Amino acid sequence: MGSIPFAEADRIAQLYTLQLGKVKAVAKGVRKPRSRLASSMDLFTESGFSLHKRAHSELYVLTQAKVLHGHSELKADFPALTSLQVLADMLEKAIHDTEPHPEVYSLLQETLLALGKGREGKELFLAAFALKLLELLGYPLELDLCAGCGSSLRRKKAHLIPHRGGALCESCFPAGPKRLQASPAGMEILKKIRSLPMGKVHVVKLRPALLRELFLTVLEYLQRTIEKRLQTVDYYLKVMPATP
Ligand SMILES: [Zn+2]
Repeated sequence: MGSIPFAEADRIAQLYTLQLGKVKAVAKGVRKPRSRLASSMDLFTESGFSLHKRAHSELYVLTQAKVLHGHSELKADFPALTSLQVLADMLEKAIHDTEPHPEVYSLLQETLLALGKGREGKELFLAAFALKLLELLGYPLELDLCAGCGSSLRRKKAHLIPHRGGALCESCFPAGPKRLQASPAGMEILKKIRSLPMGKVHVVKLRPALLRELFLTVLEYLQRTIEKRLQTVDYYLKVMPATP
């Protein structure tokens, strides 16, 4: 079974699994040095696990594990690890059911591979992940037409409107919050990164300032849509100042 741990406390790991969706599992003997279970439970390590459910418990017991993809290239430096924490936070907060979502599982696999390939543009992959995740979870985001007047948003500045599943043009919403605002170029990029397969998102090249702006807009939209704050984003901004 494919599973990807994304949060860890003590010996209980939060796993994102292909067949069971998001589950919590307790692992026996993880603290022993050289435990094979321990390495399989590292953040975002994809492993095959044997999981057994206890009666009357939400907790699974994890017995065997085989690491399928360690993604070690992703954990080698601080900026990459900080991006992974934001990714883990998105998964943790956006998915609340225990239903399996094979598409979300594949998206996560593709995102981890894409993040591991380049040192730059991690914010672009995180923004693309957020947009694609919202779509898969049933929160579509209309970016072509204004949700108010129905006019085309092409080459227009717009405001993303959580809970309306779309964006409003400037005439419909002249004084919207800055954090949900996208420039005409930004709107085109949002559409592009959402429709490109994750393995191709790197072809989009952006100035660091525009990238940071879009990253923040998308993350703000996600947080307001799921009605939860991602504390990792505040931390990320603190330790990863935007390059001028
Ligand atoms: Zn409008």
